[in-house]
Amino acid sequence: MQIYNTLTRTKEEFRPLHAPNVGMYVCGPTVYGDAHLGHARPAITFDVLYRYLTESGYKVRYVRNITDVGHLEHDADEGEDKIAKKARLEQLEPMEVVQYYLNRYHHDMEALNVLPPSIEPHASGHIIEQIEFIKKILAAGYAYESEGSVYFDVAKYAQDFHYGKLSGRNIDELYAETRELDGQQEKRHSYDFALWKKAAPEHIMHWPSPWSEGFPGWHLECSTMGTKYLGEEFDIHGGGMDLMFPHHEAEIAQSCAALGHDTVHYWMHNNMITIAGKKMGKSYGNFITLEQFFTGSHPLLSKAFSPMTIRFFILMAHYRSTVDFSSEALEAAEKGLARLTEAYERLQKLKAGGESSVDTKGLRERCKEAMDDDLNTPIVISHLFDSARAINIVFDGKGSISSEDLEELRRVWKLYAEDILGLRLEQQSASEEPYKKAVDLLLNMRLEAKQRKDWATSDHIRQALTEIGFTIKDTKEGFEWSL
Ligand code: ZN
Repeated sequence: MQIYNTLTRTKEEFRPLHAPNVGMYVCGPTVYGDAHLGHARPAITFDVLYRYLTESGYKVRYVRNITDVGHLEHDADEGEDKIAKKARLEQLEPMEVVQYYLNRYHHDMEALNVLPPSIEPHASGHIIEQIEFIKKILAAGYAYESEGSVYFDVAKYAQDFHYGKLSGRNIDELYAETRELDGQQEKRHSYDFALWKKAAPEHIMHWPSPWSEGFPGWHLECSTMGTKYLGEEFDIHGGGMDLMFPHHEAEIAQSCAALGHDTVHYWMHNNMITIAGKKMGKSYGNFITLEQFFTGSHPLLSKAFSPMTIRFFILMAHYRSTVDFSSEALEAAEKGLARLTEAYERLQKLKAGGESSVDTKGLRERCKEAMDDDLNTPIVISHLFDSARAINIVFDGKGSISSEDLEELRRVWKLYAEDILGLRLEQQSASEEPYKKAVDLLLNMRLEAKQRKDWATSDHIRQALTEIGFTIKDTKEGFEWSL
């Protein structure tokens, strides 16, 4: 398997890493609001990787953290803590805010069929570990204390290590683009970042430390919890591309400073999402939460879209490409997913007989090849569409399939469509089952009416269903219908 490594900017062989035990860390949400598309994409991307590695025989320990402290409104160590601010505005305990949005996040992830990670550690539950981590960085000489806060000494670190190797930025560039801000006189350089911040008197989330009553800097939790649960070296670290700088760059620096070496072998970043060509953001009026997609309650949406449509749409693009959301694009994805669902249903009903006249061989290998090539999910989907065409030919009686090929086809579809891409095709159709049964029931009543030459009833049923929008076709066996 080959994965594009942001650190080396190449696709590397995955094999030589810690097989069979793979450690995988993905930056999870800061839980102070409802989940939106920006949360769905990394969750789904790394869910597919987790599923694929597991199906490939690796034993994966997947850690996805919950940021519930220290993520300030601006990445440059300023502004109010995002959760504390919400708690103040809503007059809640900060942990009430965290629990409320975490429950909602889990609900959305379940709807998207994103598997829960192996461990979901909270930053606030690892304050002691973070303090110990800071002590290591201080002892190594890459941090300094200033008025009760502790800052990472970027310039000192850059003398001994390569700061900026992940994002490709260099210190001079950073210096030029960092604004001089209030409170920054505590820092030696504007680009130094906080490991520990002394809490202002009005700050409601704080803990004792050797330096002050305060709280950890946002970047620190991932260095601390990643190494705590996955060891000093682990395989994969993922997240959205927006986290590459400063968050992941800072994480590399912290870990190298504390441990003397890199911890992560593969850095993977999913690309960003735009909505109708525009960056997503509250100020653009295009900030659509997942809940709003599922219910259709946003002016930019023509209708509600099922969680599986969202998942399928995200997987139709390679994770390193940008994805542009629009109602039209989602409607097209919805149709595509319906075609796959129909083919999957037909596959269960197909009857084997004689030699195979359709080519169904090689699907397993082709899908594997695509997944091994840096998780190329759009290619896997295109192979499934090709296979759907073969299924439809046999279903329509224009071809045949041997029982051996049919069994294999069923296994490959289950593996790739359901278990790896995580599409709930069976459930998708199962949820439609009662309505299908009702239409079948009506058409069977019509058939009986015809048999006893009750043309009035027969015509009435046909006409009523046609008016609703059904197309009814009489066949030798009875009938066929579609909506
Ligand atoms: Zn992180």
